[in-house]
Amino acid sequence: MMTMTTNSVVYRKKPQKARTNRYSVRVTVSALFLGILAWSVALNGIAQEISVHFIDVDGKTIAEVPAQRQEEQVYLPVDAVKQVFDPDMTDQYNYPRKRLTLKTKGKQIRLQINNLVVSIDPGGQTHTLPTPPIIIAQEPMLPITFFTQVLPDFDNLEAIYNPSLQKVQLRPKNTWTPMVTGNSVDWAIIIDPGHGGADDRGCESNTGLLEKDIVLTLAKQLQQISKQQGMQIYLTRQTDAKKTHLERIQVAKRNQAQLFLSLHCNASFSPHEKGIKIYLNNPKGELRFPSNVQSGPAGQRLKILAQANFLKQSRDFAHTMETELNFLTEIPVKIIELPLVALSDAYMPAVVLELGYLSNVEDLEKLSNAEYITSVAQAIARAFQRYISSINPSVPQTVEQ
Ligand SMILES: [Zn+2]
Repeated sequence: MMTMTTNSVVYRKKPQKARTNRYSVRVTVSALFLGILAWSVALNGIAQEISVHFIDVDGKTIAEVPAQRQEEQVYLPVDAVKQVFDPDMTDQYNYPRKRLTLKTKGKQIRLQINNLVVSIDPGGQTHTLPTPPIIIAQEPMLPITFFTQVLPDFDNLEAIYNPSLQKVQLRPKNTWTPMVTGNSVDWAIIIDPGHGGADDRGCESNTGLLEKDIVLTLAKQLQQISKQQGMQIYLTRQTDAKKTHLERIQVAKRNQAQLFLSLHCNASFSPHEKGIKIYLNNPKGELRFPSNVQSGPAGQRLKILAQANFLKQSRDFAHTMETELNFLTEIPVKIIELPLVALSDAYMPAVVLELGYLSNVEDLEKLSNAEYITSVAQAIARAFQRYISSINPSVPQTVEQ
């Protein structure tokens, strides 16, 4: 860039004709370059350098590994196995036969370039990858699925992959056992999809997306996922219906729920405001009650105190959900403690989750995407399980295999 600038200063005094010539030379060179590029793309596809972050269950970085993206697939160098799983791993690549052998944790893993099958000895197990190992710049490269589907198994781990952020989270398998003892479910959770009905649509995007619809879709998915995992989820509304604040809290009381999660979306006059926020009810939070409420009737004071009894649990759940949701987003999730009148009648740990800003282009794009909503539901379901396991020590953390 510097040379170009200097050149243009030097050539500024030259006649117009010379400039035109120089320009046409540049066009020819660019055309030639594009031609070569198109030719190499046709031959190999284009490999783009990226990096993949491996993180642990608490979101801490295990390793950041350079990788290549080619034709929508992500490939990692063989050395990444050492960085992420086993520093003592040894590898051997047989060029003529295009065979790669890895020795790690007492196992011998055999792969072949352009072949989907992975064989593991001793035991003679095989695993079929969705994409095969390939050669990029004469180096054997392993598809990311080898790191998410094959390797974690050796450490009794499972991997969750976020392709849009190139993050892989490794977490212990079977950490969360369903909360079922005999035929009864110990845990009941209330999901409260905010708003509802014709006059209470909540926030609205300029594309016509409604808060009340997003939160209901998410709540139903969450109910579905959690049911499969043995948790009992009750919704404060199943349809696009108007519900009062008290009716919502009544659902929680009737079902003797142990956790209350209210779902909302945000909107702001500033189009730059974005990200996920978790609110919890703290009477001594950032905003204080006016003094007349503090010194109000005894019943009112008792209510506030009753919710305050659950502050620690609400915080624990908020932090668990924060860790899980941080996996989905580049902007860290914010936890905000406020005196929330809406939650003050809930005699149980209670939080409000604001999924993002319908007034922000990036948040709106995510919230309009069905796959994103599903990944949020899965993240919240994982948070439920981790939270419940953490306060219910009778639940085994791992199951012997
Ligand atoms: Zn709302």
